[in-house]
Amino acid sequence: MASEMCILVVEDEEPICELLRYNLSKAGYRVNLAGGVAEARASIAADKPDLVLLDLMLPDGDGLDLCRWLRRNPDTQVVPVVMVTAKGEEADIVAGLELGADDYIVKPFSPRVLLARIRAVLRRRSVEPVSADAVISRHGLVIHPGRHEVLVDDQPVELSATEFRVLHCLARRPGWVFTRSQIARAVHGGDDVVTDRSVDVQIVALRRKLGPAGKLIETVRGVGYRFKD
Ligand code: CA
Repeated sequence: MASEMCILVVEDEEPICELLRYNLSKAGYRVNLAGGVAEARASIAADKPDLVLLDLMLPDGDGLDLCRWLRRNPDTQVVPVVMVTAKGEEADIVAGLELGADDYIVKPFSPRVLLARIRAVLRRRSVEPVSADAVISRHGLVIHPGRHEVLVDDQPVELSATEFRVLHCLARRPGWVFTRSQIARAVHGGDDVVTDRSVDVQIVALRRKLGPAGKLIETVRGVGYRFKD
């Protein structure tokens, strides 16, 4: 039940804190507040949250450092982190996702969208990751890793080895935003050398070959790509 869940809000702007506290409490979450990095660490040590909402610009430090600390600490390694950022902080979003943050939301946000995002992150965290050789079937697209085969509406689609790896990487975790370098690292070892930039080229080719199913690969502007949830 949502009522069991504790969310730590790390945010120094009072009005945003209040907005978050009000909406999260109304949605049945227990809310802890921290106004900075040090307070957040103390709060986590005293009462481990089920999810951290993390502002990136904090008075006593950088939210990204807190994210790095959460991921390094065995106790908090898997605690979901949703970054709350201002517009135009794409570089920070990318850095945060690469540090292992689960998702982000850009200010100003609607409480409804924020709650949906939090629920989606908590749901995805509770789902076992698809094993590397499991068949994936979503929205009419089927991926057979063992056979290196992709079907769209039962029709086979010819993909290069690298295109296949890119698609597989995204489709294994629908709804997750992947940065270009996360994709490049995931597909490393294919025939082609994949750089951050060439990920875009792979995606263009993939979408073209997948036809109507190409829209399942969504562009997250300034950040990367995700497979439709
Ligand atoms: Ca701030």
